[in-house]
Amino acid sequence: MYIIFLGAPGAGKGTQAAIVANELNLTHIATGDLFRQAAEGGTELGRKVKSYMEKGKLVPDRITMQMVLEHVSVLGQESGAILDGFPRNLKQAKALDEALAKKNKAIDKVVYIKVPEEELLKRLSGRWVCRNCQTPYHATDSPPKAEGRCDRCGGQLYQRPDDREQTVRKRLEVYLDKTAPLVDYYDRVGKIVAIDGKGGVAKVSQKIVSALSRG
Ligand code: AMP
Repeated sequence: MYIIFLGAPGAGKGTQAAIVANELNLTHIATGDLFRQAAEGGTELGRKVKSYMEKGKLVPDRITMQMVLEHVSVLGQESGAILDGFPRNLKQAKALDEALAKKNKAIDKVVYIKVPEEELLKRLSGRWVCRNCQTPYHATDSPPKAEGRCDRCGGQLYQRPDDREQTVRKRLEVYLDKTAPLVDYYDRVGKIVAIDGKGGVAKVSQKIVSALSRG
């Protein structure tokens, strides 16, 4: 089973993709996490990637496709995968369809998590993430038990540089312009599973798992 998680920044894609992948025993591939790792590596590619991320822009397709295709070998072998944060535009979506078709595979479903814009801004500006295990927290809605420390692994929490207000606005703009048209693209082939992303994390993941199991 190959599932894409689609939604605006702050809609909860990463959190939900991790939970659902664990529950359905699928590999979780998050391009944002892969790029953040590359950016921390300090290589030439890492520095390039970092400059796009910090501005809230998409990393160019050539770099993105190269990185994702390295993981496509995974897409041939496993029982399936959840793609979180990829594709982000029509060109990437078409390239993904082609890469999968070569392996006689196809995307099964696209989970589209819907959250109103004012809620997205609130979520992103209060978000703190564990540097070690990527677990997200929220300053007021889901704070950690000890300030600055991850409940799960004790790792240090940090605010993503691209969660600052100016960059958040740019990321939302890029989402509406480049990524939102993918909803139509996948809807035309009947693959969209629309989920209301408001409410608690557990409630939303239950909705996703039950919608996916209805087929
Ligand atoms: P995310 O963690 O999914 O919000 O991604 C963080 C940042 O990584 C984005 O704002 C982009 O700069 C970059 N990024 C992640 N996925 C992609 C993608 N599929 N195409 C281009 N850039 C991406």
